[in-house]
Amino acid sequence: MQCLRCGAVMDIQIKGDAGEVIEIDVCPECSGTWLDARELAKLDDNFFVDVEEIDFENVQPTTMDAELTCPRCWDTPVLRKVRPSVHPVVVLDTCPTCHGFWLDRGEMDKIRQLSDKLLIASLLPLDE
Ligand SMILES: [Zn+2]
Ligand SMILES: [Zn+2]
Repeated sequence: MQCLRCGAVMDIQIKGDAGEVIEIDVCPECSGTWLDARELAKLDDNFFVDVEEIDFENVQPTTMDAELTCPRCWDTPVLRKVRPSVHPVVVLDTCPTCHGFWLDRGEMDKIRQLSDKLLIASLLPLDE
């Protein structure tokens, strides 16, 4: 696979434990990562939530945004920009067809923050 951002050939990294091993594609140049559907949820056992079950809303791309196309789908649909509707700490690119995710460098950390926020929110009384 070639990097969606910079065109470099991506490395395959093995993640997860013996029970659920996943192979993710990581760019050695820009650290961008492609995750197929369900790989995002499996990537980190510490996620409080199933990241792919979060409600996402569409974000209008700005003219600064490069158009990314899906590396998996034969008709290469353009990735949609989405953000979580409750804690919009991160904007992600996702394929409307195969539901894979593209993460730029640092976006994984933001997803962890999101998971932590949702965990904290779950511990607080609803009428804060
Ligand atoms: Zn790259
Ligand atoms: Zn796709």
